[in-house]
Amino acid sequence: MDGPVQGRRKACVVGAGVTGLVAACSLARSGYDVTVLESELHPGGMLSTFRIGWEDLERIPYVIDVSDRDLLKLFMDLGLDAQIEWFRPNASLYLDGSHHRIDRAGDLLSIRPLAWTSRLLAAFRSVSRRRPPFLCSEALRAMVAPRSASEPVEIPGEWLASCPPGVDSGSRRDRSAGYPAGGFSILVRALLKEIESLGGEVRCGCTVTDIRPQPVGFRLDCILEDCTSYGLETDTVVATVSGRRFAEMTVGAGLDESYLERLRSIRYQGHLCLALRLKQSLSSYHRTFVPAAAPFRLVTEHSNLVGLRRYGGHILYLSRDIDTADPLWTQSDGEVFRLFFRGLTEMHPELLRSDVKDWRLTRTRYACPPRSLFDRQAAFAPEAGYPGLFLAGIARTLPEEHSIDRSVRAGLAVAARVRSDPRRRIEGASPAPGLHKSEVT
Ligand SMILES: Cc1cc2nc3c(=O)[nH]c(=O)nc-3n(C[C@H](O)[C@H](O)[C@H](O)COP(=O)(O)OP(=O)(O)OC[C@H]3O[C@@H](n4cnc5c(N)ncnc54)[C@H](O)[C@@H]3O)c2cc1C
Repeated sequence: MDGPVQGRRKACVVGAGVTGLVAACSLARSGYDVTVLESELHPGGMLSTFRIGWEDLERIPYVIDVSDRDLLKLFMDLGLDAQIEWFRPNASLYLDGSHHRIDRAGDLLSIRPLAWTSRLLAAFRSVSRRRPPFLCSEALRAMVAPRSASEPVEIPGEWLASCPPGVDSGSRRDRSAGYPAGGFSILVRALLKEIESLGGEVRCGCTVTDIRPQPVGFRLDCILEDCTSYGLETDTVVATVSGRRFAEMTVGAGLDESYLERLRSIRYQGHLCLALRLKQSLSSYHRTFVPAAAPFRLVTEHSNLVGLRRYGGHILYLSRDIDTADPLWTQSDGEVFRLFFRGLTEMHPELLRSDVKDWRLTRTRYACPPRSLFDRQAAFAPEAGYPGLFLAGIARTLPEEHSIDRSVRAGLAVAARVRSDPRRRIEGASPAPGLHKSEVT
């Protein structure tokens, strides 16, 4: 059992995803004695990687957008900005057996399976919002919705309001996608190194099961990988897990029941992502949006964007959001692979099983909270109704929202709240040096 350290405020961060690591780093820089507890064996959360060939590869494909200001500042702050390489992504829509390029507004005009009105409206929207069409996911969802073969696809009006404005940076990087040399693992490693160099600790394979207030501070009960238990006492807790998990952990904490009920009522979507190492590329596109009839929704040919690097093959991801009540969610990895591979061969009949060198399936249980969550911030208010206990979990909203950036902001904002908590302020502590302050939007 580790008890609070005399003289230094102790903060425990639950979850070593981007939000947790950024919060931990910021608190460690302000003089807190920080412990991060992570249930997985490796840190990074959704951004964690696996080794393939001589490279680290994300379990889910990521890119940095030029508008990801807080993420880019974080790279700079950690001295990693020179590692970001910028590429020009391209995308297609796979409709009626062929790829339709959707990089520019004009491309939309020539997609014959789309209704004329939709082509014009979508093109107008893309121009007026200075956003390439493939960043308007609502539009794409509508385009690939199931329909009878003869029926032209109509884009419903809602997406016209939802496409976010583009970045008018005027720079050559505008509309580019960034990817770090060495992958996103360099960011995770740099955050870990910084936390540890400031005396903090990141414990992986440690699942927090219970958070209970004590007369002073909190006690956290955990289960370790070898099924033994571990307890820790701390002054402040920052949980960066899903709302549902947080509600489970704090059952005995005496939190406001209506607040917990709101967290429990959030219905998350899961995400399935199959990473394949192939002998060759299948198209010239980075991303291809696929009709709803296919078992996956998105094909990401990662190597078409960043090159072959030292992966030892061509990297391609097949992915989709999924309701966890869907029987596919509980199918074996082999079944999901077979289903996805069959769908891919329908798009590319030349593809053979022997062209797949290896594959890996990732299931993310709490990948996508409903979009409306972020319109109703109260559901994720950082103070969990108990002094010293904070919730800063955030997952993806919509692809175009580039939410690692949001996660960085959430981590910084929750650390700022911990520091400014009048009951828990550290006498004489300096504001977090280097890490910039920002508010959650
Ligand atoms: C399909 C998909 C594509 C995306 N693409 C992009 C993109 O291109 N660009 C972009 O900017 N963003 C993208 N995002 C968003 C980005 O992945 C997330 O915003 C970010 O990684 C979330 O970080 P987080 O720390 O909030 O959550 P997580 O990464 O989920 O971290 C939470 C951590 O808490 C741990 N945990 C949970 N329960 C416990 C427990 N009981 N005890 C201890 N630890 C626990 C988990 O294991 C996890 O490591 C994408 C997300 C998805 C799902």
